[in-house]
Amino acid sequence: MTGANASSGASGPYLRIERLNKQFGSFSALKDISLEINEGEFVCFLGPSGCGKTTLLRAIAGLDIQTSGRIFQAGKEISNLPSSHRDFGIVFQSYALFPNLNVTSNVGYGLVSRGLPRVEIETRVKDLLRLVGLPESGRKYPSQLSGGQQQRVAVARALALSPGLLLLDEPLSALDARVRAHLRVEIRRLHQRLGVTTVMVTHDQEEALTMADRIVVMNQGVIEQVGTPTEVYRKPASAFVADFVGTTNFLPGVVAGPGHVRFGEINLACELDVHFGPGNDVTLAIRPEDVVIRNIGPATPNTFSARVAEVEFLGSFCRVGLAVNGGDPALLADFSINAVRDLGIAEGKVMPVALPPDRLRVFPRAPKTP
Ligand code: ATP
Repeated sequence: MTGANASSGASGPYLRIERLNKQFGSFSALKDISLEINEGEFVCFLGPSGCGKTTLLRAIAGLDIQTSGRIFQAGKEISNLPSSHRDFGIVFQSYALFPNLNVTSNVGYGLVSRGLPRVEIETRVKDLLRLVGLPESGRKYPSQLSGGQQQRVAVARALALSPGLLLLDEPLSALDARVRAHLRVEIRRLHQRLGVTTVMVTHDQEEALTMADRIVVMNQGVIEQVGTPTEVYRKPASAFVADFVGTTNFLPGVVAGPGHVRFGEINLACELDVHFGPGNDVTLAIRPEDVVIRNIGPATPNTFSARVAEVEFLGSFCRVGLAVNGGDPALLADFSINAVRDLGIAEGKVMPVALPPDRLRVFPRAPKTP
């Protein structure tokens, strides 16, 4: 079956993964993974090296069959279908083009294998090369193209058979930063134009935040969180997610009572889950950009005094190390250049800061929690 607009054939998600496990010998690379992806979504698997994201992608493609669990695509179970019988196009990190074939032949390879008429193939390849911005490069060989151009050819080749699913395995990580940023936007645009359900593996949080409709954050073979980029950034489900995505301050705290945590001498109001009880050790998390220094009044909650220990100029903003509770810098805070100038922020200055209760996240303090 082919067709970028292939309907799921049944109401429900386009791709459904049920309790997937993958063992390599005694090592569990995937542990009971369940996930649903809707038709037309752009989903990123994000996580550190070795978390299992590539293994999951390869299971979807049938390149590495799972040890247990089931996979459904467009309402059909594909768990044990060989890769060649599945409906996907794939792009790998290394461009994986045939070096002895020119661009046209690379892109048209799958179409030729299918025995399509020559004229039809020529038209389709031309359309695809136009789509990826390489209309003039059909006669060139891979060695005559830049890394970014080769990866565009790989994308065109993956789309040649109009697959229902586009799988991208770290497609940008071999490219230099400028090309990567450019191609990021292009792939996203391409997806918006074609609407093909897309799954991309990446370890680059910026890539995931800018490209994905939803991000699946993975760690050690399990899913830590599934959410939109905003949800994952603003409401990380665990200390791991808060640490892996963006910059976060972690502060040790002890639950003081309902909706209150003590951080050293400071009593902080926060949204506290009911399962935390008084005396529980917790980790408080807050993003540097959420630390407030302007418009602090007597009624502003979670206000305390902090000493500026260091100021790092980062172009459009300053990252300021704040010492609280009389100790070493415990809190990083990002302030605009204007705020730094207007408030005269400099090393040694003592000033009030506030941590808005709705910006504080509270996690159990696991032995290994930062
Ligand atoms: P990376 O970004 O480094 O590729 P990843 O999150 O994609 O990381 P996977 O390639 O999915 O990680 O690997 C997950 C774990 O499974 C790793 O610890 C890896 O060493 C292990 N693993 C993967 N493939 C095999 C294999 N064929 N045999 C044994 N172990 C494997």
